[in-house]
Amino acid sequence: MNVYDSDRTRTALLRRGWIEAGEAEADMIVFTGCSVRGKAEQKVWSELGRYAPLWNAARRPYVALTGCVAQSLGDKVFSRYPWVRLVSGPRHIGLLPEGLERAMTGERVTLLDEDPREFYDLNEFSEARENRYRGYVTIAHGCDNFCTYCIVPHVRGRFLSRPPMEVLHEVQALIGNGVKEITLLGQNVNSYGNDFRNGYGFAELLREAARTGVERLRFVTSLPQDFTEKIAQVMADEPNVCPSLNLPIQSGSDRILKLMNRKYTRAEYMEKARMARSFLPDLGLSSDLIAGFPGETEEDFQESMSALSEIRFDLVHTAAYSERAGTPAAAMPGALPQEVRMERLNRLNKLQDGIAFSINRTLVGRRYRILVDGTAPRGEGLLQGRTPTDKVVLLAGTEELVGRFVTVEIVSAESWCLKGTVVEEIK
Ligand code: SF4
Repeated sequence: MNVYDSDRTRTALLRRGWIEAGEAEADMIVFTGCSVRGKAEQKVWSELGRYAPLWNAARRPYVALTGCVAQSLGDKVFSRYPWVRLVSGPRHIGLLPEGLERAMTGERVTLLDEDPREFYDLNEFSEARENRYRGYVTIAHGCDNFCTYCIVPHVRGRFLSRPPMEVLHEVQALIGNGVKEITLLGQNVNSYGNDFRNGYGFAELLREAARTGVERLRFVTSLPQDFTEKIAQVMADEPNVCPSLNLPIQSGSDRILKLMNRKYTRAEYMEKARMARSFLPDLGLSSDLIAGFPGETEEDFQESMSALSEIRFDLVHTAAYSERAGTPAAAMPGALPQEVRMERLNRLNKLQDGIAFSINRTLVGRRYRILVDGTAPRGEGLLQGRTPTDKVVLLAGTEELVGRFVTVEIVSAESWCLKGTVVEEIK
């Protein structure tokens, strides 16, 4: 979501005559930051602090802080770092270009979201993207679920679906601009349309988006209780909707799920995963899981471990529980020491690594059609793409392959990625 918001902000600024520059030459640095975990927030503080020597020597550059971290930190950033000239919450993105121009005059600009239902959108699609071939489209803003550990409803406001025509128009604009793979975004995409109250929901939008002619379509994230057979059916019917699903479980213990206000039980989650796999036998299933939630006993934790073994996810984004100020969980009794959270996190990761590796090595010899979308960030000069099931594939090849679909044969596997060789260039 932050990549998408940054891409659209970049597009809007370029249209208004701004010029993108390297950090050393820039007059204004714009950060879009995340506040979901404490660690991300600390990173923002330290990134902002890096400008002290430059500021002391030359009174430049100005720095702007945007995204949900700006909403969460508020205008106290101004007093700590005088080079910060703008703070803007995510629901003020539409006022950002004009706000940045005011900030360039030296003014301190505050665009924080005061009304969680208000939204100033930016009327731009992400034309100046970080990645030429992959694009994102937000379909809904905010969240009304109020999971007790989560800061999102507090910093991104109430749930608000974008009108379908607006979403589809943006999908078309991206296709026209050379995008081959689009990911529809929302904190909970499955709730899409609940606020329209006219029966048009995510299944309908997904089908229409698939029929725009986009080569590949993905979506994140799905709340388990709202993932329906109707959505699974669209995924099964439409060949360009990737068989890949992120279904966050967060805990395997019913007691902890209740404390988290997740509104499903372990058994209900298992049933959703089974249903999704029955519609999509080749499904890539990923999840999110928190270790060390307040009051989590070793027994509760073992329920999370057994859920991993039982479901056998392709990928799990694990995290040690991190207190977010103002959330109900931060005030719950039974906070666990950091070492216990980390030790549980390590056990989860070890178990999941083994599961992912054992799944991935069964894929050696299989062929996948992948979009080569760039060079591998962790390198050795390799290119990178993803299978429809959302597994990272590293491959050797020249940069001319970037932006093309190729068929690769998987030659080796690790727990987090596959290695493949090109057997056919498609276009
Ligand atoms: S559904 Fe997701 S975004 Fe919404 S409160 Fe829960 S964890 Fe946060």
